[in-house]
Amino acid sequence: MSKYWSPLVRELKPYVPGEQPKMQRLVKLNTNENPYGPSPRVLEAIREQLDEGLKLYPDPESEHLREVIARYYGVAANQVFVGNGSDEVLAHIFHGLLKQDRPILFPDITYSFYPVYCGLYGVESRPVPLDENFRIRPEDYDQPNGGIIFPNPNAPTGCCLSLKEVERIVGGNPDSVVVVDEAYVDFGGETAVALVDRYPNLLVSQTLSKARSLAGLRVGLAIGHKDLIEALNRVKNSFNSYPLDRLAQAGAAAAFEDDAWFQETRQRVIDERERVTAGLAERGFDVLPSAANFVFCQHREHKGAALAQALREQGIIVRHFDKPRIDNFLRITIGTPEQNNELLIALGTLL
Ligand code: PMP
Repeated sequence: MSKYWSPLVRELKPYVPGEQPKMQRLVKLNTNENPYGPSPRVLEAIREQLDEGLKLYPDPESEHLREVIARYYGVAANQVFVGNGSDEVLAHIFHGLLKQDRPILFPDITYSFYPVYCGLYGVESRPVPLDENFRIRPEDYDQPNGGIIFPNPNAPTGCCLSLKEVERIVGGNPDSVVVVDEAYVDFGGETAVALVDRYPNLLVSQTLSKARSLAGLRVGLAIGHKDLIEALNRVKNSFNSYPLDRLAQAGAAAAFEDDAWFQETRQRVIDERERVTAGLAERGFDVLPSAANFVFCQHREHKGAALAQALREQGIIVRHFDKPRIDNFLRITIGTPEQNNELLIALGTLL
């Protein structure tokens, strides 16, 4: 700590991302990437940009990409915002749309970037406990707040709210912005985009990092009422008016244009998730029902931290959180059938 640091920087507790190991041969099941890779059309679109595009500035409005996304979801282009990964989109939301006079509500077990952003932007927060089955209870969000955010499906639990339950939270809080973080929605959740024309306080955020397998390209988006999107544009243009580079704009648009690839690969992940869930149950794990591309599970006899360490020694990395109530759990990303077999075989030898 230096005397030149501001009080804000002294107080920050930065987000600690999942490990990105340098060793290639590890079976990497720790940060919820999609192992199948993006559509070949994405690679083609990026290659085209490499030929002629790099010397030119990108479109500051990402107009073509926003139009493609708008068409895909049946909304207007001025209802779509894009950024460098949904983490950046969420940063702009916390900065510009969540009020500072009342606490922001989010589940007490959830994506750990939310409290980090609250710290960074000086926004008070109040974690709302999950119920005994690790589920979000919509009625718990009927309390004064400066905004609400939750992932659906939730992370790291994988548990999902129905659209009716999401609507209960959005409709019950007409004076607050409600953000539904749909990073994992394509693996079995129901998107709330259909509600944005009915609820001017609803923002849905999504990412291309998961089901569209583009974590390295860094593209995320938000969909909502045009006035909410305008607020995000104001924040964005006060930082950096070129949020997405040319490769990201072209690649992301191509990803939405190849629906067949998207449907096929996400279905493979879903099928494998069911097989891995059954395999874990056979090996003595309790597995929460997951609508995501990971499972959250705890062994009836073995401690989570010890299991994570033992798997690591066998070259398999999964995520363990050293946090109350979930410190016995492992969050395991669904990999390819071969990777999942390696996991199940390794667990068979350890247990
Ligand atoms: N929301 C949730 C719930 C996540 O788990 C993640 C991935 N860590 C993100 C948002 C951010 O994803 P990205 O920035 O890659 O779009």
